[in-house]
Amino acid sequence: METIFTKIIKKEIPSVQLYEDDQAIVILDIAPVSAGHALIISKEPYPTIDQCPNDLLAHLMAIVKQVDIKLKEKLKADATNIVINNGKAAGQEVPHLHIHVIPRYTDDKKNLTFAKESYKDGEIQRVGKLLQLETIVE
Ligand code: AMP
Repeated sequence: METIFTKIIKKEIPSVQLYEDDQAIVILDIAPVSAGHALIISKEPYPTIDQCPNDLLAHLMAIVKQVDIKLKEKLKADATNIVINNGKAAGQEVPHLHIHVIPRYTDDKKNLTFAKESYKDGEIQRVGKLLQLETIVE
């Protein structure tokens, strides 16, 4: 499926690129939460994380780590938010797997927190039983 990111990968539309290899590119988000907000984008246009092979996910996370280090070194970020909007209902605008790395500063007044709920009696145990994972196969 053609997305804005497939066009950026093919250089059909411009971007400010920080990195490229055979599996991924890193660009600056055009509408940043703060300057330096980067997007690590898989070249293969998997829409969401469940469709992405584990070795590619591991590679994307290795790139995320380098971006985090660079933002702290060069922009003096105090921390980063690392975010995947994984599906439309989670706010994903571009259905092509990408990871946001957002520079954060002490008292920067950005609000990336969620409104939280609480569990009713016994519900956390029920949900916990429902969500037990099988062995993770690499
Ligand atoms: P998401 O909501 O997780 O799908 O995020 C998509 C991100 O892509 C948004 O933060 C947009 O600002 C960003 N974006 C959309 N078009 C471009 C573009 N042409 N260049 C860079 N970033 C873009």
